[in-house]
Amino acid sequence: MKLVKIEPIVLRYPEPNDFNTLRHTVLVRVTAGDGTEGWGEAIAMWPEACKAVAHLIEDGLADAVLGMDIADPSDAWRALKRHTWWYGEGGLATLALSAIDMAVWDCIGKSTGRSLSDMLGGRVRATLPAIASLHVNHPTIEDSVSAVAGYVASGFRGAKLGFGKKGPSKVGQDPAYDVDFVKAIRAGMGPEAWLMIDIGNGVRWDVDTAIWATSRMAEYDIAWIEEPLHPDDWAGLAVLKQAVTTRIATGEREWTVAAYDRLIGTGSVDVAGVDPARAEGITGFQRIAKRVEAAGKVINAHAWSTAITSAASLHLSAATPASEVFELKPIENPMQHELVETPIWHESGEVRVPDGPGLGVVPLEAVIQRHRLAY
Ligand SMILES: [Mg+2]
Repeated sequence: MKLVKIEPIVLRYPEPNDFNTLRHTVLVRVTAGDGTEGWGEAIAMWPEACKAVAHLIEDGLADAVLGMDIADPSDAWRALKRHTWWYGEGGLATLALSAIDMAVWDCIGKSTGRSLSDMLGGRVRATLPAIASLHVNHPTIEDSVSAVAGYVASGFRGAKLGFGKKGPSKVGQDPAYDVDFVKAIRAGMGPEAWLMIDIGNGVRWDVDTAIWATSRMAEYDIAWIEEPLHPDDWAGLAVLKQAVTTRIATGEREWTVAAYDRLIGTGSVDVAGVDPARAEGITGFQRIAKRVEAAGKVINAHAWSTAITSAASLHLSAATPASEVFELKPIENPMQHELVETPIWHESGEVRVPDGPGLGVVPLEAVIQRHRLAY
């Protein structure tokens, strides 16, 4: 089964879950000699990064794998790693590699009639608990409480709240306010629901603040604190880890299997965030998941883009015992609900892995054309 064509497609779309920001991503369509197509995604997000990823694929990465036999997807993965040895190991080249790898896996699955999770060794579970993964952008605490309570009432098993995002919310600006916010959210959602706090890029805590705020938030039973410090601050993370009992999540901004290996080796990370559309594709995620599992930790898919990455993340999460939950953007949006025939969603709080070969989803041409960006 030879790879005969690779086509990057840059998309621009409004994201109601991100204060209606226009977001960008790159889909990649690969075609095998028998005409089978496979789809992948590079979550490059910025328009210039998406265009650059498309050019990297067209001008170099495609040549490295076109004509290859792709019966074993790790062959193409290794060829791409070799090709990008100088400018890869992170950054745009790794995004491009991730998309091609994902599309190759999908293509093999579609050609052989096997689902991705089957190809990965089978599902450990058929469904994962659905978590509403939202950016806090409501003007008041009361508004956020009622939004989160509404998601839980509609079936979501919990919520992950991103701080320091766009919009009029004050969360992320004052740690004391943030603790009050978490207290109110917990009271509104009830004691049973999962609650994760994602500090992230929009907030800058130092180690002392992280220790103080995490310890206070722990009184309201948070499942984990995510990116409480800059992802490069491994020394700070080690200090925080010693000082709090709350699980620490980080990793969504890492790139490679090797980097996750080092990160997990620090012992400071309880929940490793991994995006297959960034961290070396399906092959990368699968390898990272094995390391996370061996370390007795949790892997959490960072699937906050299109249904392509969500489908890949779902299969990957279902195929490893190291996963716990699955995040969904809770507000209906074009990339999750319109791009594919059957949106990836939950039923009574459980997200089912898509049936069908490969990723189990295929992007609709009309929706691609509606959002396609020329470059
Ligand atoms: Mg995050």
